[in-house]
Amino acid sequence: MTKRIFRSICLVALTVFLASVVLFMGVLYEYFSNVEQTQLKMQTTLAAQGVTNEGIDYFHDLKVKNYRISWIDTEGNVIFDSASDTAEMENHLEREEVREALSSGYGESKRYSATLMERSFYSAQKLDDGTVLRLSISQNSILTLLLGMTQPICIIFVIALILSIVLAIQVSKKIVKPLNEIDLDNPLSNEGYDELSPFLRRIDSQQRQLRGQKAELLQKENELNTIIGSMNEGMILLNQKGKIISINPAARKLLDAGTDCIGSDMLSLCRNLELQEILTKALHGERGENIIRLHGESYQIDADPITSENIVKGAALFFFNVTEKEKAEQIRREFTANVSHELKTPLHSISGYAELLKNDMVKENDKIPFAGKIYDEAGRMIRLVEDIISLSHLDEGADDMQRENIDLYTLAEKAVQSLEPEADTVCVALELSGVPAPLNGIPQLLYSVIYNLCDNAIKYNHENGKVMVNIQNENGMVVLSVEDTGIGIAPEHQERIFERFYRVDKSHSKAVGGTGLGLSIVKHAAKIHNAKVDVKSHVGKGTTVIVTFPK
Ligand code: ADP
Repeated sequence: MTKRIFRSICLVALTVFLASVVLFMGVLYEYFSNVEQTQLKMQTTLAAQGVTNEGIDYFHDLKVKNYRISWIDTEGNVIFDSASDTAEMENHLEREEVREALSSGYGESKRYSATLMERSFYSAQKLDDGTVLRLSISQNSILTLLLGMTQPICIIFVIALILSIVLAIQVSKKIVKPLNEIDLDNPLSNEGYDELSPFLRRIDSQQRQLRGQKAELLQKENELNTIIGSMNEGMILLNQKGKIISINPAARKLLDAGTDCIGSDMLSLCRNLELQEILTKALHGERGENIIRLHGESYQIDADPITSENIVKGAALFFFNVTEKEKAEQIRREFTANVSHELKTPLHSISGYAELLKNDMVKENDKIPFAGKIYDEAGRMIRLVEDIISLSHLDEGADDMQRENIDLYTLAEKAVQSLEPEADTVCVALELSGVPAPLNGIPQLLYSVIYNLCDNAIKYNHENGKVMVNIQNENGMVVLSVEDTGIGIAPEHQERIFERFYRVDKSHSKAVGGTGLGLSIVKHAAKIHNAKVDVKSHVGKGTTVIVTFPK
């Protein structure tokens, strides 16, 4: 910009200078020409006076240096000429100034030489005798004048040029200085040129707008990063070449990658073929998903193409841990198989006994025991179906059941009471001790916890054994313990007894009417109440199950 201003100033200065020189010269030239013309007229008048008085003698003593004087008779012949031989001179009657003088008494004209280097002024006056006296003077033309002044003009031009350069440098610097000093961070604080105010105001408003947009973008980016960062699912964004452009902490952890993996190829992080396959598909615009094993767990991977205006710009990979889902699926499949199996056995028995009775193939004495067996098997089926219903109800979260403030001790009393006949049958003493324990919970579920634990303690006990039920309030918790002096559970089974249909001794369980679901119901019901279940057991000595409820 400085250079441009500098050049413009120089150009303007030199143009003005040249124009001034030409104009000045022109004006001066015209002025002096007029002066000379006036003087010529005056000299002509004086000379005409002299010739009128003295005639041809006037020219004898005449010493003219600058002027040329001619005397022309009425026919146009030159009688006298101070510069040329009159004999060789042509007729002057047609000369403009002569013609004018003859007609009006006075005439004048100016003519350029053939080369335009010289200009001549003519002034003619008619004398009393009808002759004409003409004076002329030659003057250099303006072009000759200019050529003659080349040297001084060049010197003045060089001086003007130097002056213009020096001034132009200073002026252009001065003009540009406020522009260079503009503080664009605070546009409104500048006091340079008024003309810049709209421009600076515009910059200021745009800066404010940009700052707002930047803050908004930053906030959105932070929100997005927080969401992506706190996601349990792994997420990776890749460009169209399969290079990582973003990866969240969950995905980094999963693929054992560092923060420096941005920009590296996905292949270098995970060489799993299925993953590569769906990624390639996604980068070709096709969505894909697959389940792969990583660190001993199952992950469902969704690969989605990222498109813009129908062009694939990259892909997004999501890693969902489906281990639990797969486990649940497996449990569900096993559960269905187990249920079918558990139901099939009593049904077969019932159908077998019923067939024998129907075909009258049973002795009269055996009919009652057969009917009893059918009754027992049907009872087992009913218990099984009831347990399955309870369990599936618990699986669904038991949302329809109301929580109430209850006393666990009162509930335990009821459960013990209803189990007393069963305990008596197998000669097991059932005792309840403890204190009232208020608790907020679902009464039906809490009852089934106590009932199932006591039922097991009776079923897996010895003859003349004991079952001690105790309720205590400890450290803000309600502790229910069911202790028996029964057969006990070996350590390797203690973890698994809460699994559905898991029994330590299947035939014993069946013999005592077990369904294999009692402890699963206990575990689920305890979970719904955020309670903890612990088992302490010694084979041959007995088992204690402790359930700790937070109040
Ligand atoms: P079941 O209907 O067979 O009793 P549970 O789920 O209630 O089913 O119990 C699972 C298994 O745990 C039982 O089959 C039994 O082998 C064992 N068990 C449960 N409670 C006791 C206990 N108090 N003493 C010994 N073994 C027990």
